[in-house]
Formats: sequence, C-alpha cells, structure tokens
Amino acid sequence: MFAQAAACIRSEHQRLTELDSIGGDGDHGITMLRAAEQMEDRTDAAGTESLTGFLKAVGWRVLGVDGGASSGLFGTFFAGMGEVELGEDAMACHEFALALQAGLRAVSRQSKARPGDKTMMDALTPAVDAVSAASGAGKTIAEALDDAACAASLGAESTRDMVARYGRARSLGERTRGYPDAGATSVALIFKGFREGLGKGRASDGGS
Ligand code: ADP
Ligand code: MG
Repeated sequence: MFAQAAACIRSEHQRLTELDSIGGDGDHGITMLRAAEQMEDRTDAAGTESLTGFLKAVGWRVLGVDGGASSGLFGTFFAGMGEVELGEDAMACHEFALALQAGLRAVSRQSKARPGDKTMMDALTPAVDAVSAASGAGKTIAEALDDAACAASLGAESTRDMVARYGRARSLGERTRGYPDAGATSVALIFKGFREGLGKGRASDGGS
C-alpha cells in the first residue's frame, strides 16, 4: 500500500507543484517526491517488524524530509497511525479505522485547520471518516479503501471552490479560488495508492 501510494505521488508530482505554484510557493511536488522516496525505502527495508513499528518508522522518515509543511503533517499522520494496538500480521478493518483515526487526531493537533479551510484536511477527514463508516458497516478493508479513495478525491475536488485560510496560500486569499489545494490532492493520491496497493498485495480481496 505504501509503495503504491509513493508511486501515485511520483507520477503526479509535477501537477502537485503546479497546484502549489498557484496557491503557495511551488515546492509541494518536490517535498512529496522526497516523502515518496522515504516511503519506498522504508517499504523495501520492512521485514519482520510489527505493523505499528513499520508505521512509526515510515512516519519518522517522512517527518525527516527537508521540505514544506506537508512532510511534517504527512509524517505525523503515518506515525500517528502506529500509535494504536494492532494485530501482528493481518489487520482487521476496525483496526485499520482505529489507526487512521489516531493518525488524523495527531495531524489535527498540529494542523489546527478544519474541513473548509482549503488544506489537506478537506481530503483526509472524509477519507478517514469513510473507513470508519465502512468498518461500522462490516465492510472489508478493500471496500473501505474504495470508499476512502472516493471520499478523498471528492474532498480534494471540493477545495477548488474554497479560499485558503491556512498555510502559505492563506496570504493569497481569493486568488486561491478555482484550483484544488495541493496537499488535499496529495491525500487523494495516497488513498488511491493505498487502494491499488492493497489489490496488488493480496491474493484475495478479503481482510474484513
Ligand atoms: P509549504 O506550504 O510549507 O510550502 P507544501 O508546499 O509542501 O508546504 O504543502 C502545502 C500544503 O500543505 C497545502 O496545500 C495544504 O494542504 C497543506 N498545509 C499547509 N499548512 C497546513 C495546515 N496548517 N494544516 C493542514 N494542511 C496544511
Ligand atoms: Mg509549498
């Protein structure tokens, strides 16, 4: 899942930079490319460690990326996902939801932005909520990720009509309207990658 999320970011990093050039300083694609490298490296190195150990390690790697605000926020999200008790090998959908909720709580503490402020929170919050709802409805992780990828994509698209109230884009005010937020677009790519990566990594589509 992390390897495919990194691949999705890699293939779209120029668009991320374009979006950040409109609403920010144009470094988002480069920061996310560096984050993707760390995700790939850590995925290659992942051996017999626990899921929480992996999530914390990948989070700290992304946190260590030299770049904009987003590496700190995404690193905090991944590391935060590792702050819950998880089974040693196979993860159940309700555990996945708990991990994502913990990640979102960790980012929220740092970000202070809320949905509607035209930030990554506009995609991250609905994506995590979609997994929580899917878990409550007894869906599999694959089904939950279908919902989350869709929610993240819609959330990112919804930022197009918003005016930025956080981050560097804030000073541009009305000029940010008409373009989706760069960080929210990255969230949509990450959840798309998670969904595709889960499909690749499993022989069956189970994992309830
Ligand atoms: P910087 O703004 O420092 O150059 P990046 O360009 O890497 O950082 O990332 C910009 C993205 O980071 C924005 O599009 C937005 O989604 C996200 N972002 C910035 N500040 C915040 C914040 N306080 N809360 C949530 N997301 C934020
Ligand atoms: Mg930037």
